[in-house]
Amino acid sequence: MAKLSTIALFDVDGTLTVPRNAADPATLSFLQELRKFVKVGIVGGSDLVKIQEQLGQKASSEYDYCFSENGLVAHQEAYDEKAGVRKAFVEVLKREFADLPLCYSIGGQISFDVFPKGWDKTYCLRFLDDKFKTIHFFGDKTFQGGNDYEIYESPRTIGHAVTSPFDTISQCRKLFMEPSDIA
Ligand SMILES: [Mg+2]
Repeated sequence: MAKLSTIALFDVDGTLTVPRNAADPATLSFLQELRKFVKVGIVGGSDLVKIQEQLGQKASSEYDYCFSENGLVAHQEAYDEKAGVRKAFVEVLKREFADLPLCYSIGGQISFDVFPKGWDKTYCLRFLDDKFKTIHFFGDKTFQGGNDYEIYESPRTIGHAVTSPFDTISQCRKLFMEPSDIA
């Protein structure tokens, strides 16, 4: 039975892919299968271009949420259209100020925000907080100083440390896809 109040968030590098490589087609089809059970979101540290290289060109529309640059840029399915103008504007700013350590994020209905780089993945939780009762997070760098540490430790998430895409899939199968109530 689909639990719509639950979302599973995934880091990309080392969690869904071998670091800096493209994801295995089997991992991608697993994620689509998982979407029948829970909502699925991607929270990558890289920009959307890199995430698309790793997860496919349609990465921002194939998942319920796709957060690039540690959640500072949100690409939500069916949200992109509305945000088109701001997206274009943000792209121009990124290009013009490429040498400054800044990140840009589309926020609210009419605004976008500029942040210093280094904001961590917990940033994306603000997009999910009022929508999901349970937020799971899967990442490979969940140790202190790792780029998954803050979101893994966040009281708002149930954190899962993984060692490889294979481990991610196996943990997800157990958690979300196997019947848990034994009569
Ligand atoms: Mg990682």
